[in-house]
Amino acid sequence: MTWPVENIIRILSIQKNANGDACNTNNNNLKQGLAAELLVRHLRLFTYLVITYFAYQYTWPIEEAKEWNLKWVLVVLFRNLFIEFILYGGWHWFLYVSGFVNGRIEHKKFNPENQYDDGGKNIVREVTFTTLGFFMSTAFECVVLNLWSRKSIYIVPFYSDFFGNSFAWTFYSIFHVLIVAYWRDAHFYFIHRAMHKWNFKIFGIDIGYFLYKYVHSLHHKSKNPGPFSGLSMHPFEHFLYYTCTLTCLFFPLHPYHFLYTKFHADISPIAGHDGYDKPAGGSAFHYLHHSLVDCNYGTPMVPLDYMFGSLKSDEKVKTKTKKK
Ligand SMILES: [Zn+2]
Ligand SMILES: [Zn+2]
Repeated sequence: MTWPVENIIRILSIQKNANGDACNTNNNNLKQGLAAELLVRHLRLFTYLVITYFAYQYTWPIEEAKEWNLKWVLVVLFRNLFIEFILYGGWHWFLYVSGFVNGRIEHKKFNPENQYDDGGKNIVREVTFTTLGFFMSTAFECVVLNLWSRKSIYIVPFYSDFFGNSFAWTFYSIFHVLIVAYWRDAHFYFIHRAMHKWNFKIFGIDIGYFLYKYVHSLHHKSKNPGPFSGLSMHPFEHFLYYTCTLTCLFFPLHPYHFLYTKFHADISPIAGHDGYDKPAGGSAFHYLHHSLVDCNYGTPMVPLDYMFGSLKSDEKVKTKTKKK
């Protein structure tokens, strides 16, 4: 089932003060067949597909976007900020404010310290930069809307009939939906890796170290991350991060593809940073990156860390949280 519905049901179904170990579910998709992996992963991403559908149906001002006008830009901005409020705000409230986790999954917190027990410093910084992230996401969307609506030569035209009138076209459309999550993971790895030490210098400068010091270190201020840490980035990092949506410049895409990629970038950091093991977000892999820094730059599904030797096992973190 999809995030966050399945997670909420599983957390609330744990008997209070019992050590219900919802972690037993084996989510190591590498052990599944490809078809099962595609199915399970996309069932979990169903929330993004639903949001994509409604955003396209009701808040996709493709006609108005021919000319720059605050009215349609605000439609896009408010829809995006509404998504931030509901999903980021809602998940933060559920895990850190509501008390629903008390007696249920406190022992699943990777770092038992409450990072928000600091007089509000962390949450103010994280909400501010996450909101700036949604402004950047809106900027990318508005530029694409404008280019598409003007039939600009700088972008491949979009198509409106998702399934088309041939098997090949239907296959192309569905295939592009299925690869978005993997493309996003690979793109994220390279953008992110570039902002950590390269361990070699060009004209006496380690560009990765420079980018880390002046840009990416802001994201790492969330050493003990929570839901709002995910998009808490320097605006330059936001810019690099959202370039994942620009496949539309090079391939013929339906607006669904663009919106799905964008919402994946908007929303997936929530579960990836929420600070809890399953049945909450369960990203021990990225938690280790925040706590140790020089490892696990990507995601477990696209094994680039394994290929480039920066993989650190998340089993230790999981074992530690299970024991508590
Ligand atoms: Zn990093
Ligand atoms: Zn992070």
